[in-house]
Amino acid sequence: ALAVITIDGPSGVGKSTISRKVARVLGFTYLDTGAMYRAVGLFLQWNRVDLSDDQAMRSILAKIHIQLLPGKNEDDDTGVLLNGEDVSGTIRTPEMAMVASKVSAIPLVREKLTMLQRQLGNIGGVVAEGRDTGTVVFPRARYKFFLDARPEERARRRVRQLCMRGEAVDERKILEMTLERDKNDRERAIAPLRQAEDAWVIDTTSRDIDEVTHLVLEVIRA
Ligand code: C5P
Repeated sequence: ALAVITIDGPSGVGKSTISRKVARVLGFTYLDTGAMYRAVGLFLQWNRVDLSDDQAMRSILAKIHIQLLPGKNEDDDTGVLLNGEDVSGTIRTPEMAMVASKVSAIPLVREKLTMLQRQLGNIGGVVAEGRDTGTVVFPRARYKFFLDARPEERARRRVRQLCMRGEAVDERKILEMTLERDKNDRERAIAPLRQAEDAWVIDTTSRDIDEVTHLVLEVIRA
């Protein structure tokens, strides 16, 4: 069977770009699990669901159909069709990242997306990227990586990314949101962000995308 490779870590460590590059070099499929949490967050927001109402949550979650659209090149984020509607741009705002972080702490949401991710990953030849892909979704992955970097550097990268998309950004606010999202992700009761015991840990604070990609590929090819 073809391998599964997992790349986890907090936001702004370069996970997405590095995952896409590694996938391209290996001829693997890139699986952006964060895009799925963002899409579910958007759908729950649209439908004004009471997040604490299990029955309402179950019935609305059963109505969500998510389809991932691979980006055209390495700099392109994964797009999403949410029940047929293209929400690729809508899910990429800092606000939607916060919404995703909030709904990602709900067990029913994680249950649904974990199942979907395993279905997509079971074909093998996949680079899965997110927060819990090495710990929960694919605990038997062939290679696991955990990328980390200093918070200020991660926020700086997010700011640069948003600027490149032509969005007005408040750097202090981005730093605050990055820290809050990390805290949510690390401290939630279910599938918290943490490194798998058998993960290769790479600090990306003073390494650029190509260096980290190179390190990852070196491990895989060794
Ligand atoms: O990676 P991205 O920034 O798109 O993820 C958005 C949010 O989705 C994260 O902050 C996290 O709360 C949630 N997420 C998660 N588990 C994953 C991927 C993303 O909880 N595997």
